[in-house]
This record gives sequence, C-alpha cells and structure tokens, in this order.
Amino acid sequence: MALVQIRSPGNEDALAAPSGLAFSPDLREIRALRGLDETVRMARELIQDNTFPTARAWVKGGGHAAAFFPVYTPQELAHALGLLPVTLHGGGEELEITHADAALGSFLCSISKSTLELAITGRLDPFGAFVFPYICDVSRNLEGIFSRLRPNAVTHMLHLPQNFTSSAAVPFLVAEYRRLLEKLERVAKEKYDPSALTDSLQVYQQNRDLLRQLTELRRKEPWKLPSTELYFLERLGDLVPAEVQTPLLRHALDEARERSRPKRDAVRVLVVGPFCEQPTPDLLALIEEAGCYVVGDEFNMLRRWTPKVELSGDPLENLARAYIESKVDIGVRATPMPKGESIVARVGESEAQGVLFLTAKFCEPALEDVVLYRRGLEEKKVPYLHLEFEEKSTSYEQSRLQVETFVESVLFD
Ligand code: SF4
Repeated sequence: MALVQIRSPGNEDALAAPSGLAFSPDLREIRALRGLDETVRMARELIQDNTFPTARAWVKGGGHAAAFFPVYTPQELAHALGLLPVTLHGGGEELEITHADAALGSFLCSISKSTLELAITGRLDPFGAFVFPYICDVSRNLEGIFSRLRPNAVTHMLHLPQNFTSSAAVPFLVAEYRRLLEKLERVAKEKYDPSALTDSLQVYQQNRDLLRQLTELRRKEPWKLPSTELYFLERLGDLVPAEVQTPLLRHALDEARERSRPKRDAVRVLVVGPFCEQPTPDLLALIEEAGCYVVGDEFNMLRRWTPKVELSGDPLENLARAYIESKVDIGVRATPMPKGESIVARVGESEAQGVLFLTAKFCEPALEDVVLYRRGLEEKKVPYLHLEFEEKSTSYEQSRLQVETFVESVLFD
C-alpha cells in the first residue's frame, strides 16, 4: 500500500495543478527589473510563491529544470548542461502541510515536511532531477523518499568529503561530481562538455563577486543595505538563472552604494544557524526592527563557499578543489579549526558586537554546534542570544521582546 499519494500524469484523483505568478519562458519580466526596491519586491513575491513559477515558465519554453536541496551543491554542473538549477528552501509560511505529516515523524525540521508536501501536491512537477547533499539524516532520507515518490525523475544523494586534508578528497569529489553529471545528462539530454563547464564557472564567478561586494557593503555600512533586502536579492538566485540575477545585483550594488541614509544606534550582530531551513521574512524584519544590524549571517550559503574557482585546467577538478579548500565553517561541515575559535574569529571579521543564534526547530547539525560556539563566546565575553524558529511560526511577540532585551543589554552594559 502506498504511504502517500502523489500527483502524476494520468492520476485522476490527483490535486489540481497549482497556479501562481506567471512569466514568459525567457523570464523577460524579471530581466526588465531595474530599481533595487523593484527587484527586492519581485524576489520576495517569487520566494513566497511555492509553485515555482520561473521553473514552470522555463519548462514550458522547452527547457529542463533540476532542484537542489541546501546547503551546498555544485549547481554549475546543471548550468553547464543547460538545465535551470533551482534551490529548494521548503514551502515557507504559506504552505499548509496536509499530507507530509503522514510520512515523516513529528520531531523533524519543517523544511523536510514542506519539501515533501511540495512534491506530493505536484508543485515540484517541473523538475526532472532532485539532488540532496548528505548533510544530515533528514536530507539523506528525503532522497530515498523522493526516489520512490518520483520514479520518473532522477534523484541523487551527493556525498561531500569531510576530511579536507586527505590527498584523496579532491579525486573523491571529482568522482562524485561525475556520478551526478551522468544523471543530469539524462535529464538535459545533453553530453557533458568541459568547455561549457568552464563558461558556467565564469558566469557563477561574476555572480559570486557581486554578492560578495553587496555583503561587504552591508558589513561596512549596514544602514545602506538592510539585511532583509540583501536576503531577497540573494534568494532570487535560487530561482532564476545566474545570468538573469547578475545584472540585477549590479544595479542593486550601484544604487545601494549611492544611498544616503542616517546611521541608527543599532547593535551589530552575526546571525548563526539558519544555513538550511530559512526563517520567515517577518522574523528577519523583526531582528532589524528590534535594533540590530545584521553584519554577517548564514542565511543562504550556496554562493558563499568559495571566493574563486580557478578557470584554467580541468573545470571539474577546479570545482571540487574550491569546495575542499573553502574556509566556510557551518553546522554541516567539519573544519580543522575548533568551533569555539571559529565563531570568535567570525565575530572579529564581521566586527559584530554579539551573536544571534537563529536555529530551525529540530535541526540537529545547527543545535549541536550552538553548544560549542557558546563556550567560545563565553570565554571571550561575547554576548549572544538563542532563538528557535519554524516555517509556520505566526506570532513573534516573545522573540521581539527577547531581541529588544538583548539589544538593550549590549547597548547599556
Ligand atoms: S534544517 Fe537541519 S536537520 Fe533539517 S534538513 Fe536542514 S540541516 Fe538537516
């Protein structure tokens, strides 16, 4: 007996196809955006529309799309094959969970249930491939579930090395990428071409450069680019091709640099923990409204793993090497530096006055690290606050009070 019923062609009892925003296959409506406010507004509407309108438009135009679960996946491989890579960030606050609860246990993070709900209700139909990195047991199990729920699609469990000093790490990851490429080729109906991958690395490099400049502007002058705006600009890249996002980021950077806004008396905080499941936009806004400047965060890690991917030589090896040599230290990655030292170093780099742990409920990788991070912060007397969130949180009055109290304690201590 099937555990859950999914929508599939020819299934008369299936749920109606979801509707939402509509775009032309070349996404010209998004390409035409110019102002920063306009881009942020569109990005916000897009990420709150859980029918994946950009992927639907892309597929309607004859293209193919691949979905990637956070936190790190080499989307350049999909791009090089002409696929639209999309990052799955769950269903957000708008999605009602009515089917997935029957298939997954209660004590699991929201993103696992809402991602499954998206599949069951047909919202993920545009995607021909689903890639899950092995970041935790939940992600690993989702891949198993998807392989049975979507037998006509390609599913892949991506193994990422944890020993970064071993000489086998790069060859191992190259072999993993080849395994993934073979599956993506079936969806794209194209053969892997190394020169196409080099081109894709270049496209993503420009995109990452702009994101890094925007992040740096926010670190230095957060009053010019609030974290809420940067967040939506970044998330846009989860849903549109890098070539579409890059010019919009360039306009946003130019406009944000020119802004003249007064500096508030706010506390500079580093936000740690939301690297996979994302807090709601209301919770993000609350942090700034309550008196914080977010000067560093882990919200959307995908384009932050490496400052640069080498362009000469074998592109597959370059991509693998860039991941192995990445300095990123978050809850799903073991790095040589002890966690306590690492958080203190990050506080110093971002010139933060405190740390806000913002962890998804039941996210073990994030919660386990909080214990180690706190020890390091306590030794150096760095103030911190810990809040937990879920996708479906609706009331934040208690969180607001906690953040306001934290801000006052830092400002007046
Ligand atoms: S939110 Fe945490 S537990 Fe859930 S899938 Fe992501 S990393 Fe795993």
